[in-house]
Amino acid sequence: MRDPGFKPKRRFAGLLMLALLALSPVLLYAVEGLDFQPGFNLFSPSQDVEMGEKASSEVNRQLPLIRNQQVVGYVTRLGKRLAEVAPNQSGSVKYAWTFNVVNSSEINAFAMPGGFIYVNRGALEAAQDEAQIAGVLAHEEGHVVMRHGTHMASEIMLVQAPLSFLAGLLGQSTSLASRLAELGLSFGVNSVLLRNSRSAESQADEVGAYILYHAGYNPHGMAQFFQILQKKYPQRTIQFFSDHPNPGNRIQSVDDEIPKLGPRENWKTDSPEFQAVKRKLESMPPAPKPAAQK
Ligand SMILES: [Zn+2]
Repeated sequence: MRDPGFKPKRRFAGLLMLALLALSPVLLYAVEGLDFQPGFNLFSPSQDVEMGEKASSEVNRQLPLIRNQQVVGYVTRLGKRLAEVAPNQSGSVKYAWTFNVVNSSEINAFAMPGGFIYVNRGALEAAQDEAQIAGVLAHEEGHVVMRHGTHMASEIMLVQAPLSFLAGLLGQSTSLASRLAELGLSFGVNSVLLRNSRSAESQADEVGAYILYHAGYNPHGMAQFFQILQKKYPQRTIQFFSDHPNPGNRIQSVDDEIPKLGPRENWKTDSPEFQAVKRKLESMPPAPKPAAQK
């Protein structure tokens, strides 16, 4: 008795399921709102990690790092929490997500390929709340997952190395890395490879806002940080923007993207831990004077 009505319903349910499955990429896209596409890259994501690891061990020797566990532990926990929601992380490759605090009063932060992130003491001191420093970290994580460092290296190699030569190198990490070295290029302090283009900056801003939103932070935090810097320390922002050039209308562009992320939520803006870290930094001896800038 139930059968006649039941069968078509089941069939309809099955068809509906099929239709939904077919549509799911579209639906996902609509839900995600933003589509993040990394640029052209000769390197594999695992090569990003290899190269970043090598460069980071150099950087750790060259820069004065803060070792205080309260400070470094805080930045690491926050950075890893944010990285959990960063887009474009394929299952097979695990980015390193390693965080260091540089004992420098310059307001700056940078990321090596593969997830080695450095934030200056000056950035922690300048940020007024946790969402703002989370914004700086999320922006750097944007550079990592969009693979801007090796993207730039790839573009330079494509221009400078003969195509036939490159064709034989695809996917071979030692050859690619040594070819990069032959061209006089490496990832490191003040490396040209870490000087991001304006379009890379815009993309890192967008990814940063995405990460903030999905980690439950006010996605305006990052733009607020830049805004505060511009207003409060006009002469000090120059340093930050030499690595991270202002793409222009930065704050407006980020604000335009935020509604696409989803409805406004009860966003987190600050934490007692962040304020305790700021007090800890205040209690520490001032940062050493920076070496002469190039
Ligand atoms: Zn940047």
